[in-house]
Amino acid sequence: MKTQRIVIKLGTSVLTAGQDKLNKAHMIEMMRQISQLMQSGHEITLVTSGAVLAGWEHLGFPDRKRTLAEKQLLAAVGQSQLMHLYTQLAAIYEIKVAQTLLTRSDFSDRRRYLNARTTFEGCFEHGLLPIVNENDVVAIEEIQVGDNDTLAAHVAVLLEADQVIICSDIPGLYTAAPQTNPEAKLISEVAQINEDIWNLAGGAGSKLGTGGMRTKIQAADIATRAGVGLRIVDGRAPNVLLEATSKASLGTWFQPRIQKLEARKRWIISETNQKAALIIDAGAINALRYQGKSLLAVGIIASQGEYERGQT
Ligand code: GLU
Repeated sequence: MKTQRIVIKLGTSVLTAGQDKLNKAHMIEMMRQISQLMQSGHEITLVTSGAVLAGWEHLGFPDRKRTLAEKQLLAAVGQSQLMHLYTQLAAIYEIKVAQTLLTRSDFSDRRRYLNARTTFEGCFEHGLLPIVNENDVVAIEEIQVGDNDTLAAHVAVLLEADQVIICSDIPGLYTAAPQTNPEAKLISEVAQINEDIWNLAGGAGSKLGTGGMRTKIQAADIATRAGVGLRIVDGRAPNVLLEATSKASLGTWFQPRIQKLEARKRWIISETNQKAALIIDAGAINALRYQGKSLLAVGIIASQGEYERGQT
């Protein structure tokens, strides 16, 4: 089997297994599956919710005001609790974790984007498990991603991942609300996110998490446009992560709209740079133009103007 780069998103409803506090038994179970995937050579990134909830739990469930300030306070308390727990659970499987807190500006600011990518690549090189959450403590509305489904999609695009697995409290996207409509059928594959699919989105999901089906479809839209497939699965089903990686028919699969390579090329040509240039020799021209190879430093004769790391 080809090894993959996979972004796994665990929502609050999965981490709590439907209760009001973190369900450690279920979190161990997820970590066991993650360790198995890592052992098979897959590069895993975990996007986790649950900081606000963990903060609320740690402070003894005070009355909730549901203001931004309260959310940030609970996240500040809970993020460290959450990471402490993940660190311990991962250690059972001899995995070391790395905390990565991001906000929207980390994806729009090119330098931060590249720095984040370097950090993730470093994690993979060292066999670490990066654990991502939104940096809720600083993420005021203007700069926040807002929900972790969308955050997982942005991370997957940044990493040029093969797929995103969104673990939810329902098994996927249905033709109608499965809670109320017995006729509702699971949609196993979505080739294109059109008007009909958006119409199935409905409202927000469970009371503890941020996302509902809408944010999941939004995430699928972001990922698939960039060549990354996305799967929605029931995060409480046995062996769900292992099956989602090996089986083609689990949950709802949103097909990538374009090839990853194509996405990368589009991204490269979408940026033009008329301020700087590299003068390269005939050998390098031949290698780049006719042999699909990369540029090596030895082929560079001169460098003109100024440019930054990662610039086109
Ligand atoms: N970042 C939030 C938290 O850790 C969760 C956001 C979400 O569930 O989408 O509590």
